[in-house]
Amino acid sequence: MRIARMGAIGSERPVVIEGDEAIFVDSLIKDWSRQELEQGAFDRIKKANLSTLPRTPVNSYRLGSPINRPTKVICVGLNYLKHIAETGAETPKEPVIFMKAPDCVVGPDDDIVIPPGSTATDYEVELAIVIGKRALYLENPEQSPDYILGYTISQDVSERHWQIERSGQWVKGKSFPTFNPIGPSIVTGDSINPHNLRLWCEVDGVIKQDSNTDDLLFGINHIVWYISQFMELFPGDIINTGTPFGVGLGFKPPVYLHGGQVVRTGIEGIGEITSKTIDHKHLLNP
Ligand code: MG
Repeated sequence: MRIARMGAIGSERPVVIEGDEAIFVDSLIKDWSRQELEQGAFDRIKKANLSTLPRTPVNSYRLGSPINRPTKVICVGLNYLKHIAETGAETPKEPVIFMKAPDCVVGPDDDIVIPPGSTATDYEVELAIVIGKRALYLENPEQSPDYILGYTISQDVSERHWQIERSGQWVKGKSFPTFNPIGPSIVTGDSINPHNLRLWCEVDGVIKQDSNTDDLLFGINHIVWYISQFMELFPGDIINTGTPFGVGLGFKPPVYLHGGQVVRTGIEGIGEITSKTIDHKHLLNP
């Protein structure tokens, strides 16, 4: 099953996607959100007869983030070997995890705003795990699939100057408004194998990243189990699982994003998302 949210910013409605059509399910659940998922929204929709509900072509409305206001965005850094090499880092012995302000999550095709003064805004295609039920202190990685709702595409936009040179935690370069487009839909865990998916990112029509999730250093189940040792995971929480080789930081010299570009981000079996970049100053002085 594919789940998504459609409509203008702030008034998105929950849908289930079948082929090219979206089925509005807001007569059955209020939203795809932590609260609704905790109250069994997914199981209710799974059992419901959707045939009589209103439908619309998927491309007839804006898509929002497939989860409304996730309560956490947790990221795994340095999780593909060739990406570790391009950053000059050492291979981590345990997953590197960091947080991203959840408010920076936007819809899959919304604009990415380059922050004031930024000269090092970078792209990162990532497979995102979406949590389906509370997970804390899992005993082993084999338990993880029970706690995963599904998978989606995440663009973990990163400002390298603030991330790396401004001291302290990476969160400084990761949380600017619009810095995490997510979507287009969540493909539920029962309908996709996350361990062998091509993932790619293209800037202005040029492929920059092209890899496969079978190159992950720490796999999906390991990541969920591992993070649950340090914090409680809740339905709708997003885990960005790391980005492969080919980020702008890895070029000699680095090649970063600027306003007026188009970033396409895709994962096999999930789809693709498209973001335009826009300079913050153009928002102030259109
Ligand atoms: Mg990342």
